[in-house]
Amino acid sequence: MIEVSRLEKRYAGNHVLKGIDFHVRQSETVAIIGPSGSGKSTLIRCLNLLEQPSAGSIRIEHQQVHAGAISKKTIHALRQHTGMVFQAFNLFPHLTTLENVTQGLITVQRKSRTQAQEEGMHFLTKVGMAAKAQSYPAQLSGGQQQRVAIARTLAMQPKVLLMDEPTSALDPELVQEVLQVIRAIAQEAITTVIVTHELRFAQEVADRVMFIDGGKIIEFAPPAEIFQRPKQPRTALFLSKYL
Ligand code: ADP
Ligand code: MG
Repeated sequence: MIEVSRLEKRYAGNHVLKGIDFHVRQSETVAIIGPSGSGKSTLIRCLNLLEQPSAGSIRIEHQQVHAGAISKKTIHALRQHTGMVFQAFNLFPHLTTLENVTQGLITVQRKSRTQAQEEGMHFLTKVGMAAKAQSYPAQLSGGQQQRVAIARTLAMQPKVLLMDEPTSALDPELVQEVLQVIRAIAQEAITTVIVTHELRFAQEVADRVMFIDGGKIIEFAPPAEIFQRPKQPRTALFLSKYL
């Protein structure tokens, strides 16, 4: 579903991604872990071209993109396959919960209001937020807002769900309700890539875990391997500090 080859990213003099190669199979859940500043966000943002790669290529399903001048049309095509959930929920403050979810369905996917509302309620139900359909973001807790943001992304029915530290802006007591929602999604067919500092969650939910350090993939393996018998000393050192 995802194939990344020789991906590099530089910001001015800063070489952030130094040759990234991996693939993700359909329906797989991949967790990306690694120290702060190692390039996790840059990598996941390259996957939907929020950042433009300096070198290499990315393929998401049948849409292939090479570094260089990337057309708006290509960016649009790739984004149709991907949905992104951010650390800061980014809901529209002037729209209700349901309007936040239906907006893309109506304006981008050209669905009727009735159809969009029906689908929107389906996804709000999925994240346990149907009862708050008429509330505004400011009336919701951070955990509730993030659940709405997840519903909004899922409603677009992307082939690939990307999440960049979806729980790190939350108060500790709100983290679990969001992880619970993500856990349920991960068990479904959607291909998911999630950057997370919640190592125990990654261990429990991911099919494979990618450890990144210094802009390189140090190790990419099933959680049992990464967490119980890491092959690389850098992985072991990182886990010993954070687990
Ligand atoms: P992580 O998500 O693993 O904490 P990031 O991908 O955010 O790491 O950042 C990796 C490196 O890239 C850091 O050194 C950061 O300062 C740099 N970086 C990230 N975004 C930008 C940007 N827009 N411009 C310049 N440097 C950036
Ligand atoms: Mg980051």
